[in-house]
Amino acid sequence: EIEQKALFIIFGGTGDLAKRKLYPSLFQLYKKGILKDNFAIIGTARRPWSDEHLQEVVKEAIEGDEAAVSLGAEFASHFYYQSHNVNDTEHYVTLRKLAEKLDEKYQIEGNRLFYLAMSPRFFGTIAQHLKSQKIVTTKGYNRVIVEKPFGRDFESAKDLNDSISKYFPEEDFFRIDHYLGKEMIQNIMALRFSNNLFRAVWNNRYIDNIQITLSEALGVEERAGYYETAGALRDMVQNHILQIISLLTMNMPASYSESDIRREKIYALKSLKKYSAVKVAENFVRAQYSAGDGQIGYLQENEIANDSTTETFVAGKLFVNNENFSGVPIYIRTGKRLTKKTTRIDISFKEMETSFFDSKKLGRNILTINVEPEGKVFLQTNIKKIGQGFDLVPSLMELQLNNENVVVPEAYEKLLLDALLGDATNFAHWEEVAYAWKFVDSIRKAWDDGNGNLAEYPCGSMGPRESEELLERDGHQWVFDG
Ligand code: NAD
Repeated sequence: EIEQKALFIIFGGTGDLAKRKLYPSLFQLYKKGILKDNFAIIGTARRPWSDEHLQEVVKEAIEGDEAAVSLGAEFASHFYYQSHNVNDTEHYVTLRKLAEKLDEKYQIEGNRLFYLAMSPRFFGTIAQHLKSQKIVTTKGYNRVIVEKPFGRDFESAKDLNDSISKYFPEEDFFRIDHYLGKEMIQNIMALRFSNNLFRAVWNNRYIDNIQITLSEALGVEERAGYYETAGALRDMVQNHILQIISLLTMNMPASYSESDIRREKIYALKSLKKYSAVKVAENFVRAQYSAGDGQIGYLQENEIANDSTTETFVAGKLFVNNENFSGVPIYIRTGKRLTKKTTRIDISFKEMETSFFDSKKLGRNILTINVEPEGKVFLQTNIKKIGQGFDLVPSLMELQLNNENVVVPEAYEKLLLDALLGDATNFAHWEEVAYAWKFVDSIRKAWDDGNGNLAEYPCGSMGPRESEELLERDGHQWVFDG
């Protein structure tokens, strides 16, 4: 990769995301020479830090990396700190001067990336000031990267979007969904569109059902305030799960290009089947974790009202009514305090109609994309059992190994590089976000109107009984049982 010239301005530079994800990912780009001499990073936040203090924080953030011993100090020297209250116009003047100074010092040629890693309620104010105080340049590019959550329903997402797109056109507007930066999620397109074998069977004639599981072992932790305003449906389904569904079910794009891929993803999301309120109650399960496995229940957590009805788990049965997938149930589930942290997709193929074998002995073919923790793809097949007679046994084919010698880049590293290159393929386009919210809003509204009970599940389980029943009704079961 060639060296990139860029000035990053990170709003929320003292925050958890900056320390855990952004600084280490920027260091990876530095190690690879993508960021080399002509770059600088301004961290801004309310706290009165000095450049030196930020540089110490950056060094701490990367200290687990061996290369930091030799490269860390030089890398950190490109970081500057600007104490800043996002509501104070004066502070943007100071910021502009610092940006101009660094642009000159590092010969950056006017390329700017504004990373908004703080509460979305400030996004509009920041975007407005970036423009009015001329922090956006006329020489290079100006790109704005925003973190989730992107709204809490369609209306608020639209307001948020309008407040930024007034100042930044869609092509300069990068909405993070970090799942799209994960290697195994990017592999969905590789598997589907580079293998004739899979391409041929990737449709409702051969696929019986799809199962998507995003489970977390942790509870609500420090994020109670936010989580109470969101819940699992908004926090995980609207973005990550619906993005995964669009990649799994979209038609083959005309080319590997941002606009063609985007068009098909939008079309898939537009094709999500909407349910009436009564059908929502039948096809979606919501639940809260209760005490178990040595852990307290959601209602006993700090800062959670003891009559909170926020769901920490959701399971559902969805349909994408496009040509290839209509009629294929897509079962999803996500939740906190489940057995373990896992992200996986199980694609279960139809049973074979044959009299060649006693069909009862045939296991289904199941393609599993294990995104986390393994980062592998498995195909369940049937083979002959060794020995006399002709018994069949299931066998697991491993389609892709994580080569131990190759370090899989973190999602944030890949996404930051994409943003530097101006490639928004792996970011969420406004129309995708909009269709996803409209779908989620229809579920949410049915619940708010009293359809569907709030179930319970003990910590350390794979969710409530109702989640199993959702599949059992159709004669299925979750492939992944924890
Ligand atoms: P955080 O609370 O750790 O940091 C927030 C930052 O905003 C701090 O640097 C704080 O100083 C700054 N800030 C707050 N009010 C300000 C003001 N008025 N003026 C200037 N600066 C102000 O939050 P975080 O966990 O780093 O999250 C940042 C964003 O990223 C949020 O939108 C969050 O939803 C999103 N996000 C975080 C994670 C994560 O793992 N931490 C994951 C996904 C999304």
